[in-house]
Amino acid sequence: MNPCNQCPRACGTDRSQKPGLCLAGEEPLLAKIMLHQWEEPFLTGEGGSGALFFSGCNLRCVFCQNQTISHELKGRTCSKEELIDIMFRLKERRAVNINLVTAAHFTRQLVPVLREARARGLNLPVVWNSSGYESVESLRLLDGLIDVYLPDFKYMDPALALRYSRAEDYPAAARAAITEMVRQTGPLRFQDDLLMGGTVVRHLVLPGHADDSQSVLAWLATTFGHDIFLSIMNQYTPCGDLSAVPELNRRLTAAEYDEVVDYALALGIENALLQSEESQTLDYTPDFSVSEEGLSDASDAN
Ligand code: SF4
Repeated sequence: MNPCNQCPRACGTDRSQKPGLCLAGEEPLLAKIMLHQWEEPFLTGEGGSGALFFSGCNLRCVFCQNQTISHELKGRTCSKEELIDIMFRLKERRAVNINLVTAAHFTRQLVPVLREARARGLNLPVVWNSSGYESVESLRLLDGLIDVYLPDFKYMDPALALRYSRAEDYPAAARAAITEMVRQTGPLRFQDDLLMGGTVVRHLVLPGHADDSQSVLAWLATTFGHDIFLSIMNQYTPCGDLSAVPELNRRLTAAEYDEVVDYALALGIENALLQSEESQTLDYTPDFSVSEEGLSDASDAN
């Protein structure tokens, strides 16, 4: 843990002394809990996904829609006991799963939490909702503890990864991470329209980069075939300071998205969710102005 090398940044920071490049110290920092109603339908169900949003991020893309928690730290540290308690409260609220959002920089801290929660009878599927920028070594610590991996695969071109996430190695790291995730989960397993196990890869189509999206889809289709689900996202909405990347300061056109979807169909991809143009809004981004009370009692989650 210290020095920390648990993600591909391998920044070697002693997190007991100062934050790493992910902005995180040693203790898990939780920004929000909620019954999330806007995840993929098979992860949302009727009760909602029991989401725990962690603060900080080891990738911090320039176009991030969750900048208030990824680029600015928000929330408070949570002990192992508090995290377990929150998971059981979400279960009482009829969450259909426990959804750990952007927790890669806390992987080692969460392993004992998940082990203990399982030992105490937490029997909901656990979803690992990540950017895909993770090391295989860290993911192996989660083997047997995660039911559903929900990574992004953002770019295939290292130049794009460098320009938008300052991580030229993202494509190689994400390919290795997703391969490890699929190895752990095996094929998709559904029960009553809910996903109980498997890997779902999200890809957000960016303005002007339909060609890179096609490269991402081609690799996923040829590598994993029908063993994974894809979520091809149309929801890109400009936000934050995009002055250094002006090409991203517009919405995606219908023609760009359709080009990517047509390519997916031509590849023979069948397990895929698509999004309508109405998704191009920040209305589906959670409100992170949550109170501390909201963290300490799941009944206050909104
Ligand atoms: S998890 Fe954070 S501190 Fe650790 S290597 Fe990655 S960026 Fe550095």
